[in-house]
Amino acid sequence: MKIRTRFSPSPTGDLHLGGARTALYSWLFARHHNGKFVLRIEDTDLKRSHQSSSDAIIEDLRWLNLDWDEGPHYQTRRLNRYNAIIKQMLKANTAYKCYCSKKRLDALRKNQMAIGQKPHYDGYCRDDNTKPIDYNTYVVRFKNPEEGSVIFYDKIHGRIEFNNQELDDLIIRRSDGSPTYNFCVVIDDWDMDITHVIRGVDHINNTPRQINILKAIGATIPVYAHVSMILDIDGKKLSKRKGDLRVTQYRNEGYLPEALLNYLVRLGWSHGDREIFNLNEMQQLFTLEGLSKSPSTMNVTKLKWLNQHYINHLAPEYIKTHLQWQMRSEKINTENGPKPEDIVKLLGNRCNTLKAMASTCRYFYEEFQGYDAGAAKKYFYNQAESSKKSLEGIRLKLAAIINWTPTEIGNAIHAASNELVGGIRTLGMPVRIAVTGSSESPSLDVTLYTIGQQRCLSRIDKALIYINRQGHGSS
Ligand code: GLU
Repeated sequence: MKIRTRFSPSPTGDLHLGGARTALYSWLFARHHNGKFVLRIEDTDLKRSHQSSSDAIIEDLRWLNLDWDEGPHYQTRRLNRYNAIIKQMLKANTAYKCYCSKKRLDALRKNQMAIGQKPHYDGYCRDDNTKPIDYNTYVVRFKNPEEGSVIFYDKIHGRIEFNNQELDDLIIRRSDGSPTYNFCVVIDDWDMDITHVIRGVDHINNTPRQINILKAIGATIPVYAHVSMILDIDGKKLSKRKGDLRVTQYRNEGYLPEALLNYLVRLGWSHGDREIFNLNEMQQLFTLEGLSKSPSTMNVTKLKWLNQHYINHLAPEYIKTHLQWQMRSEKINTENGPKPEDIVKLLGNRCNTLKAMASTCRYFYEEFQGYDAGAAKKYFYNQAESSKKSLEGIRLKLAAIINWTPTEIGNAIHAASNELVGGIRTLGMPVRIAVTGSSESPSLDVTLYTIGQQRCLSRIDKALIYINRQGHGSS
């Protein structure tokens, strides 16, 4: 059997982490089995669906590198097909027209609730073929079997049984002629030869209804795997409404797709206690048996750890493409300065997101506007005299370097330190603050090297002027 899976988002908002994880699992399962992965946009709810959301979801899937073999299929372009099946079902008496008015249905619901029953349609029009006066207004309902039960074996949750009496006759076409969600899903899964439906556990109650419709139209029933929920740190269900769970948000915050995918695959799936999986390894190792029944909880610390791992383990030439995107959004002018891949090498073990890396690396490209207040107070004010000596000493040595290399710079730092009472401990910080504006940077020799000779000298000059202006200098 050729494995075929699908990801079928409703374009009612952006792609969020739960959706991305479902897409990943469906994609992995198809890829693991050399099957096909189909993308389907479930946009029949016209009021809540937006083309801009479809476009954004597609862009996010591309960013995540989850490619599809077929689609995107849009349900709104398949209305003729749905209507043709409904016509056949009406003829075959597996569906019927229901003329019940809203008034009647409201009263029915009210009465059922009053006697403690779960509201359900009572089948009033099921076997009654007499048309009321206003016979143009009707919905089409599926004739759900009245007896027996639906049993299916969920790949994650095991045997599941629903009694047919609990399932009322579902509306498959609204009075405005539009087919409903559960019906379209069934027809699509059938037409698209979907063998495995991998989706969120919130759809588990739809499954018996969908199976009954599949049976009624003579379609093959796919295998179902309902993926557990993701809980946020407070133990609450992740929700689309909380904007901070959007995939775009993580992209904007400087996470790599590799890190996000690795994070998501482990959020509900395991292979021993291994944590790091690249996309190829995930494809090789992924099985539905590894999926967990219990909900998983978000852990941003782990995501950051994975992100840093990938920043440091993937080729800097690749990471740079993501860094450049961040640099553009931070409006850093990179015309004069190091190659972005060098920044990746330099700051990889200091930054766990590329946004942090972009904002940290600004001083390599542009003049900074001021010094970190605490650092300046300590070194350029309280310890002004010794800082001044350090800066003057290193300036002379740096200016004399003919071949600007980290080794030569290292020698200069060493020589200048030797002339000071506290050695490198006295010299290091003032120089670092003078050239970067802050007290944190990679090792001094490489930092100075990357900033460049002229820039270093002029920044040291500026720092000396600053110290003098504080009233502690004599020159
Ligand atoms: N369109 C549904 C959603 O976005 C998914 C339906 C399905 O996977 O069967 O939640």
